[in-house]
Amino acid sequence: MADVLTRHAPAKTNLVLEVTAMRDDGYHEIDTILQELELADEVEVRLGGRKGVSVEGRFAGGVPLDGSNLALRAASELAKRCGRPSEQVAIHLVKHIPPAGGLGGGASDAAAVLRVRQGPWRATETDVLAVANSIGSDEAFFLRGGTARGRGRGELVQALPALSKHGVVLFVPPGTIERKTARMFSALNRQPLDPGGVAEVFSERAAGPFASCDVHNAFERVAFDIFDGLYALWLDLEQRVGDAVRLCGAGPTLFWIGPLDDAEKVAAAAAGADCQVIVTATASPP
Ligand code: C5P
Repeated sequence: MADVLTRHAPAKTNLVLEVTAMRDDGYHEIDTILQELELADEVEVRLGGRKGVSVEGRFAGGVPLDGSNLALRAASELAKRCGRPSEQVAIHLVKHIPPAGGLGGGASDAAAVLRVRQGPWRATETDVLAVANSIGSDEAFFLRGGTARGRGRGELVQALPALSKHGVVLFVPPGTIERKTARMFSALNRQPLDPGGVAEVFSERAAGPFASCDVHNAFERVAFDIFDGLYALWLDLEQRVGDAVRLCGAGPTLFWIGPLDDAEKVAAAAAGADCQVIVTATASPP
């Protein structure tokens, strides 16, 4: 009988993202508040098939199907670490999260693979974390989700009290760019970095209401230079919505966050803008 396991892989946004220093290893020191969203991919891991990735869904286009796919890399590296064969791991993704949009979809798919194979392959938490950190800087956050603070290059994750449920509306522009995250970080190097302190203040506050105007994201300083057409879209959306619209992680997806009951109204106001609109909400682990 085929061994098939499935799991939801949620998206994230960053409520705070400070980039405070350049490091000798080519990475940057960050201090970020990450927030899990209800929007999620579905991840199926099948043992006994032909090794590879298949994909379907609204955002299937642009997902790599070769060895650079993070979910496939996660399966291969965890198998190797646990002394298991990875030749027969077939991964199927139903993509509801726009890829390369700043929402962490690829990293979250990979974390879902690690969690479903952890038990059967008898991987320890140390194994899972080591593989996660070798895959990407955001990866450790997705092993738990919720509301969390990430420091170092993003991998030093501290769980925070869950943010109360908020509405989130995502505005997905048509297209992204190659090597996006690396390019966004190096664009920041041409400007003064953040002094720090915003994520610290957030992590100490009670988990009260949060609004788009409370977001702090260092990448907003360079996003207009990197993504063609984003400035015009941003202005258009803020005018239509009548509220601040902010950048998700390293972009180019934009988002609004606010009272749950206002989300549908915000989405309706954005109709006609040059982007896809997704209504979702903040989420916390069960
Ligand atoms: O860790 P991840 O693979 O997501 O990072 C992609 C690229 O983004 C890195 O190779 C690096 O250039 C840049 N990066 C950085 N500082 C971080 C995280 C990523 O400079 N904290």
